[in-house]
Amino acid sequence: MRLLLMGAPGAGKGTQAALLKNAYNIPHVSTGDMFREAIKLDSELGRKVKAYMDKGELVPDSVTVEVMADRLAKDDCKDGFLLDGYPRTLKQGQELDLLLKRLNIKLDKVFNFVVKEEILIRRILGRRVCKKCGAGYHVDTLKPKVEGVCDVCGGELISRKDDTYETIKNRISVYEKQTKPLVEYYEKQDLLVELDGSKDLNETFVEIKDILGGMNDHN
Ligand code: ADP
Ligand code: ZN
Repeated sequence: MRLLLMGAPGAGKGTQAALLKNAYNIPHVSTGDMFREAIKLDSELGRKVKAYMDKGELVPDSVTVEVMADRLAKDDCKDGFLLDGYPRTLKQGQELDLLLKRLNIKLDKVFNFVVKEEILIRRILGRRVCKKCGAGYHVDTLKPKVEGVCDVCGGELISRKDDTYETIKNRISVYEKQTKPLVEYYEKQDLLVELDGSKDLNETFVEIKDILGGMNDHN
C-alpha cells in the first residue's frame, strides 16, 4: 500500500499516520520527523533545515527532494509506505511522480484532511510530544495518564519549537499558498479522497480503513 497524507498543520495527518502504520505494516515517512531528527543529531542536514523550520517556512525543494529520493529508495519502502508531509509543493509533487515512475510504482490513494483554521490553531497550541520517543499527545483530547509524562516510555512531554501562535499562523499561510495547489494535482490523477479532519480520530481511522479495505487483502 502506498499512501499519501495531506492537510494543513494540525489537520491530524500525524495521528492517522501512527494508526495506519501499524494497521498496514508500512513505514511512516514524515519529512517533518526526519528534519527534526536531523536537528537533534546536529547533522549537516539538520543545520541546513533548522532556520526554516523554526520560522515555519518550507525547507527548499532542492534539499527536501533529495532527502526523500534517498528515503524512498530504502529497502523498507519496497512494498509500501505512508508519506506524511511530502510532497508539500507542486515541484515536490512532480519530482515524486518522476521518482515513482523510475521505480515503476504508483500511489494507491491520497488523503486530504480538511479542517477549519480556528480548530487547527487550537489543536496545535495544545499539542505535546514526547521528547524521548516522539509519541503525540494533546492537553484536551489526548491526555497522558500523568500530566507531562509519556505513557509509552516515561519521557518528558514538550511543545514543538514551531508550535507557537506566530509560527502556526505562518505555517497555515504557507500551506494555503504552496501546498494547496497539490490538492487539484491529485484530484486530476483521480487519487484524492477528502476527509473531514475535525471528526473524532477513531471515526476518521475507520473511514480510511473502509476506503482502503476495498482495495486489497489488508483490512
Ligand atoms: P506540520 O504539518 O504540523 O507543519 P511537519 O512536522 O509536517 O508539521 O513539518 C514541520 C516543518 O518541517 C515545516 O514547517 C517545514 O519547515 C518542514 N517541512 C516538512 N515537510 C516539508 C516538505 N515536504 N518540504 C519543505 N519543508 C518541509
Ligand atoms: Zn515517550
